[in-house]
This record gives sequence, C-alpha cells and structure tokens, in this order.
Amino acid sequence: MQGRENSVQTVAGIDLGGTAINYTLVNGEEQFLIEGLCEYPALAKQGPEICLQQIADGLKVAVEKAGVPLSGVAAAGLDTPGPANADGVLSRRGSTNFVHKDWAGFDIRLGLEKKLGIPVTYLNDGNAGALWGHFNIFGASPRETTLTVVIGTGLGGGIIIEGNVVKGKVGFGGELGHVLLPYQSIAAIAGLQPVCNCGRTGCLESVCSLSAIERSFLPYFLPKYPGHKLADMNLHAAAKLVRGMAENGDPMCTEIFGVQAHALGLFFDEMVNTFDPDAFIVGGGALETREEFQQWFLSEIRAGMPPQREEQVDIPIYVMPNGDTAGARGVAIEALKRARQNGTR
Ligand SMILES: [Zn+2]
Repeated sequence: MQGRENSVQTVAGIDLGGTAINYTLVNGEEQFLIEGLCEYPALAKQGPEICLQQIADGLKVAVEKAGVPLSGVAAAGLDTPGPANADGVLSRRGSTNFVHKDWAGFDIRLGLEKKLGIPVTYLNDGNAGALWGHFNIFGASPRETTLTVVIGTGLGGGIIIEGNVVKGKVGFGGELGHVLLPYQSIAAIAGLQPVCNCGRTGCLESVCSLSAIERSFLPYFLPKYPGHKLADMNLHAAAKLVRGMAENGDPMCTEIFGVQAHALGLFFDEMVNTFDPDAFIVGGGALETREEFQQWFLSEIRAGMPPQREEQVDIPIYVMPNGDTAGARGVAIEALKRARQNGTR
C-alpha cells in the first residue's frame, strides 16, 4: 500500500466558479505546488463544450506555473457550485452559474474526464471548502469530525467525518444553509420573518448570508437607524457595504453581523448535539476581514450558543485558512485520496 501511495505523482485541483477557474496542484507528499490563486477565465456561460476546453487550456498554464509536466498529472478533482448530484451531474433545472441550456442535466465530471483523459473526482464547492478546512487543521487520514460553514451570497459548507465528505444519498449532504433555525429566539430581530432563497422561512441561510442582509436585515434595521447612509442606496449595492462598515464600527452594520453570529451560534449548538464534532470552521466573504473583526465574530458566535455540556464547552471554532483557494485545494485532496485508492473517480 505504501508503495502505491508514493507512486501517485501530481494531482490537479480545479475550482470552477462563475467567472474564473482556479487551479492548484498537489504532489504525493500532500505539498501544494501553487501558492495563492492561479486563475483562468471560466466561460461557463458559453456552455459545456467551450467551458471544458477552457478548463483544459487553463490546466496547461497551471502546470507550467507549478513546474511539472502535463503528463505527470495523474488525476484531477473538480468542484463547482451546485445544484449537482454527488457524481457531478448538474441539475436539469439549471442554476445561476450554468445558465447555458446545454448544461441542464450535464455530467460535468464525466465530461471533464473525457476531455483531460485522466480520472476526475467531483465535489460541490461547499464540500470541497469544508474538506480543505478539515485537512488544514487535522491533516490527512484524520479521525476527527468537523463542520464548516462558508458565508457568501448564500451559505454553503460541509460535514467531514473521519476525513470523509458526507455527500448523502443524492448529493445534498452538508447543505447546511437550509437547516431550519429557532431564529425567533434572537431578540435583536424580534418580529422578523426571514424568507430564504429556497422559499422557506428561517433556514440558516435566511439569517446568515449576503442575501439575508439584502433581503431581510437592511429592510428590518434601516428604519431603526434614521438617517443611515445606506438608506438611500438600492439594497443589493448597500448589502455589499455592510461588512466593511461593520469592520469600521458602524453600529447598525455591527448589529447585523452580531445577529448573523448569533444565528451561527444557534446552528452550531444543534450540530454539537448531532455530531459532537472536534471543531467548527467558518469561512467565506463575510470573514475576509482583519483578524480583529474575525475574532470578534467568533466570540459573538460563542456568545450565541446556548450553554453546552462541560465536555463540549470549549469546542474550537476556526476561521477557514486560505479561503480563496479552499475549493481547489479541498477537491485536490479528495482526488489524491481517490488516486491512492486506485479508484477511477
Ligand atoms: Zn432555505
């Protein structure tokens, strides 16, 4: 087994986002050969044929940057935003990132495997990020359980148990953004009915995401802060300014981030009692801030958690490391694991 592990040369991690593809390469010793972002335009809007060719072209640029031959890349991992099933078949109903009609029901994992001529492993972007966070803290082949939330436009994330991604039966395992919360217990939003992007009321995403700020928190809080400078802006543009203003001490924006942290505290409490995990990890745009703000946010999460059992009271909460490269790195780790198992995906 050891010999086979060492025989794995290099594995690529490919994070396909809405506008850019980010690449990484990892060797058999789990060392990353690219620091930071290595981006190439995504062209996803032009459909599968052009986008897959674009991914292959960008990979050539990435291997050059890493100083390895293309022929040395033994396997690849691909992560994309959903919805897709666990094997990388995109939703028939389409999605924000895959608007071209040819993407409907398209098997993107298999498509890329044919294009590159090497085994391709698929994860959704939330699960890939979660795996990277887990690996970064606990290393490969760990015994630990972690839960990761990634706060962006929506709320993604994943559950890793003993190093393995929980994908679930149809690929919706770790869809943490749509777990319902007892949001009514957050006193600062008394009377608010937070409607989620999925149409339900009270999902975690409905009280902890950029969409939540636009859809629920600004309409709720602006009347309570007369003369606030975000009041005259359209909500979409204003929502994007809230994090920066919170970081600079604006009282309303600080209160909005306090509510999101409180919501996460309630969610983590539910997960403590479901998984008894070793750690929580929080990442995404909401925490691309100064460390001082990150630490304040983590302490507000903890303050929002109902009292824990003595054994669980000190559960660590980490900020996701290298957030912008998390997807590519996470799925590279998954692909490396599959390559070692000699699997085909
Ligand atoms: Zn929802």
